[in-house]
Amino acid sequence: MVYHALAIDGPAGAGKSTVAKTLAKRLGYVYIDTGAMYRATTYKALSLEINLNDPEAFDFLDSTDFEFKNGELYMDRVNMTTLNRRKEVSDNVSLVASHIPVRNKLVHLQQEIAANNNVVMDGRDIGTVVLKEADLKVFLTASVEVRAKRRYDELFSLGNKVNLSNLEQDIKRRDAFDSTRKYNPLKQAEDALYIDTSDKNIDEVSELLYKKFMEIVNKGEF
Ligand code: C5P
Repeated sequence: MVYHALAIDGPAGAGKSTVAKTLAKRLGYVYIDTGAMYRATTYKALSLEINLNDPEAFDFLDSTDFEFKNGELYMDRVNMTTLNRRKEVSDNVSLVASHIPVRNKLVHLQQEIAANNNVVMDGRDIGTVVLKEADLKVFLTASVEVRAKRRYDELFSLGNKVNLSNLEQDIKRRDAFDSTRKYNPLKQAEDALYIDTSDKNIDEVSELLYKKFMEIVNKGEF
């Protein structure tokens, strides 16, 4: 059985998760939010009080269980959706995600899921590293202001107390860190479709990608 994959990369707040969730639902594919895996790893590292600067201190990942159910990540059987949004997790996740042992482990798990399921996967290195053979690769971006406002609306609607300018600073800081790190930095794959969503409605972007993806998949099957 050949499984299909749609890879979506881009900076924080570009609309990746909304588009990915919509497409996964419509296609009947599994949605894999790889950022949630880096966040959950950060949460566990903080709980264990290990030295976050030491790449070798993350061997707890060998005995950590990750499972996606209905697009939500469970780590060691605990739903991480709310815990992953904690400020101390957001503040430290880019550092944790820059360590090669962490990336090796999580990339391997992500590849294993894609080898056994049809997936829509979003992150920073999906088209460039995790799923180089994806049927369709997309790089979504938007201006920093638009991305911060989207993140603000998302967190606000979940009942969180948020500050727009703090969010903008957080996004800028993470973008800079993620794009300049040594291993698997955030960058567009050469064969990815580039979409700036600043002035676009996210539903329209999902529709466009759905059509494009179906064209590619159908062409491959006949
Ligand atoms: O997507 P989200 O904003 O939740 O990702 C949190 C962080 O996880 C990113 O800022 C980045 O440091 C890291 N990440 C990564 N590679 C991925 C997905 C996320 O390094 N594929």
